[in-house]
This record gives sequence, structure tokens and C-alpha cells, in this order.
Amino acid sequence: MTTSLPDAPGASPADDLTPMLLAAWQKLIVNRSQPYAVQQLDGSYRWIEELCTLDLLAAHLRGEMTLALASADAQGMCKWVCLDADTPDTLPQLVALRGVLMKLGMPGVLEASRRGGHLWLFFAQPLSAREALLAVVQALSQARPRLEDAGLPLAPLEVYPSTGSVGMAGTLAHAMRLPLGVHQLTRERYPLLSATGKPIERPSIGLQLRWLLRQPRIRLQAVQALGQKRLQTLAALPPQHARLTSPAALWSPPAAAAAPDSLAPVDTVSPMAPTSGAAEGMIGTRSPVIRWVDAHISPLDLLADDAPDSEMKQAGRGYLGWCPFHDDRAPDDRGRPGRPSFYVVCDRRYGWSWRCLSTNCMQSLGPMRHAFRLFQLLQEVSPSTAIRMALSRWPVSADEEEAQT
Ligand SMILES: [Zn+2]
Repeated sequence: MTTSLPDAPGASPADDLTPMLLAAWQKLIVNRSQPYAVQQLDGSYRWIEELCTLDLLAAHLRGEMTLALASADAQGMCKWVCLDADTPDTLPQLVALRGVLMKLGMPGVLEASRRGGHLWLFFAQPLSAREALLAVVQALSQARPRLEDAGLPLAPLEVYPSTGSVGMAGTLAHAMRLPLGVHQLTRERYPLLSATGKPIERPSIGLQLRWLLRQPRIRLQAVQALGQKRLQTLAALPPQHARLTSPAALWSPPAAAAAPDSLAPVDTVSPMAPTSGAAEGMIGTRSPVIRWVDAHISPLDLLADDAPDSEMKQAGRGYLGWCPFHDDRAPDDRGRPGRPSFYVVCDRRYGWSWRCLSTNCMQSLGPMRHAFRLFQLLQEVSPSTAIRMALSRWPVSADEEEAQT
């Protein structure tokens, strides 16, 4: 589905992109102005470490280039959430979803895309992505049965910002291609859609943009009410969903870890099969939330967020930093200066794992550990409390696991 709009540079109808209009657009859509991503002719994107100016936003609208912008800023705040449906012929479901979300206090703007569509949810004010996602996940869980009743079951959706990137200081959130641009691979401009799924016909891109800017935004009260409901639902769930098909069960038994006395050649730390806290008898069954955190959350992001003093730096195949669980900054018995001893590595087969390399530290004992264990230790809480905290920090985690099983 495309609209025919003059997209040649200098075409007069594009000249209604006034600075005021562009500034309003920037205020609505730009979470962080640096870096921005530019779509290449093959449809891929390249990040550019420069400011995304009003001129660039205008060039995107005129079809001279195609921009994608980060779905959250460096502090994990977002102005919008974008639901991306890549399944072909999924527009009727998205139109119905938009209607249901609207009734739940979450009005959205629908845009056709190459394969399916994007449902943009614009907030009246910037929110923490965590808070925004909690509300969106709650709204989706309420919408799903209604759409099924209507014979329009919801196709799989990708949600941006994604839970994996939420609240991780310093990480760059997934970028979304901005609406109203020209897709570089297909050279097509995909239209905004009305409540009934009809393309919004306007004689110029400026008028299309004005239409978009007039659409209702989601109010903070609606976000908070939905988020509250989500937390209540989660609190009512049984603490653990026993799953016997843990991927960890398929892994080779953890090798006994030889604790190296010296840090010198980190490259020689042998890859060890990591275990999670559950495998060490802390809890009888592996919760799907533990599995989700182990599979999706990087210990580096947890440390950056909850133990920034660890100052993790690349060291050989892995990363090395100051241990959050013992004082490795202190000089040793012979007065030699302390050295970073907290080791994190991402193994192609076992994923992320970590341990301390100092024999002075409890966290040097036994095999490599996974992300959930680190999360729990950094929060200094019990496994069941950590599961509840994980659910509110990464609200989609349980739903994703449910969807996969
Ligand atoms: Zn340590």
C-alpha cells in the first residue's frame, strides 16, 4: 500500500515543511538526537554519530534520505512505543488492535509498512521505557482475547523500545524507521492509516505530518492505571511456573572451575558451562523469568545499571572490572595495588556468564554464573523477590516465555 506523493527534492508541495512544523515533529519523535541511523539502499541501517538536525528530519520527509531513530534515550526514557507487525496481511488485526487500545486509553497512529504495519503509541510526556512497557504489555494482554473473539487473533508483535534494552544506561535502544519516509529498498512511501485502515490522503507531506501531529497522545494517568493493573496481575501469579524443559538441562554438566590465582592472561580462562542460582539448590524449579533473564540480559548491562563502580572494560575475549562483592581495590598482603577481578564473558554456546577471579571472593567458587544470579545478588534479595523485581523491570519477560512454550 503506497501513496503517490511528490518526493523529488524541491517539489513545491514539500515546501510546506516549516521550521515550526519540523520542531513539533522533532519534539514528538526524537528520543535522543545523537546518533541517528540512515537506511541504506539494501534496506539495512548505518548509525551516524552526529546530531539529527531539523534539516535531516526534513530530508527524510522529502524522501531524500531515510532516517531511523533510537526508541529510547540514554537514560531509558521514551516518548513513544512502536508495535511492529511483520506478518503479511496483518493490517485488519492492527486496525482492530488500534480500536481496542484506544478504548483502554491508549490511542495510536497506524502506519502501513513493507510487510505489515507499525502502530505508534505517542505519549503526552516522556516516560521511563519501563513504565511505558508495563502499560503497553497490560493493554496488549487485555486486547488479545477481545481480538480473538472478533476473529482477528493478534499476529506476533515486536515492541520497541524492547525490554532487553530498558533501563540499561549507556546502551543504544533499537531504532525505528520514522513514519512518512521512503523505504530505500522498495522506494515506496507507506501511508498513515485512518481508524478504518484507509490511507490518509493529503496533497502534501506537510499536511500529512500536520494530521499526525493532531492525533491524540496517551496520557500519563492511563499509563499509570494500566501499569498498576499489570503489577497486580503479576503479584497474583503463582511465584514460579515449573518448567522441566529448561535449556540448562540440555547443557553439559558444569565443569569444576579452577580459580586462577592471577589475573594475568584472562584469555586462558577456560570456558565453563555456567549454572544459574536455581541449579545450586536455591529454588527447586527454574522459573521462566529466570530463564528469560539468563537468555536476554547481559551482565554488563546489569553492572552498568546497578554497580557502575565495577567499570567493566574489554579484556581479551571477555570483560574485566572491579568486583561488586569484595574489595579488590585494596592492596594485597604484600602491598601490591588491587586489580579488577570481576570477569564477564559471552560464549557462543552458553551465552553470557560471570564470576569473580579472586580467591578472596565467595563469587569465585564453583562454576560460572548467569545473569539472573547477578541480578539477585546485586539487589541483595531472595530468588522469589528477584523474580518479582525482574517481572516489573522487564515486563514482557514472562509473556515472551509463555508465548514460546
Ligand atoms: Zn569478587
